[in-house]
Amino acid sequence: MCLFCKIVNREIPSNIILEDENFVAFHDINPKAPVHILAIPKIHVDSFDAVSPEMMAKMTTFIHDVAKEVNIQKSGYRVITNIGENGGQEVGHLHFHILGGARLKWGHFSDADPQGHF
Ligand code: 5GP
Ligand code: ZN
Repeated sequence: MCLFCKIVNREIPSNIILEDENFVAFHDINPKAPVHILAIPKIHVDSFDAVSPEMMAKMTTFIHDVAKEVNIQKSGYRVITNIGENGGQEVGHLHFHILGGARLKWGHFSDADPQGHF
């Protein structure tokens, strides 16, 4: 069973901030912003690349609810999902990073030269 499936099953503790029948949201263990939440489906989905449009529709509403719950909806926030090796995905269970609580930088994503040959 993967790490985030264990979090869903309460086999690994986490700081859950919102949950419904399909999704769970909890604080990232290594926050990269003052607010850094992970929103995941309760059933195992490998990544965004494998998610159904039907699940994404529900996920969208859940992410809106998370932003409201942690009071970043009005101030603004960022949603990121990393996909596969080049996307930098480390945990192979679909998750959306919800970041906020400060003005976020828009920076450096790759060591490869975007103008050159990758
Ligand atoms: P990825 O790199 O796969 O997009 O993001 C994985 C995220 O999961 C990272 O931001 C990392 O800090 C977080 N993470 C990894 N293990 C745990 C854990 O056991 N508990 C929590 N709450 N977050 C975790
Ligand atoms: Zn899983």
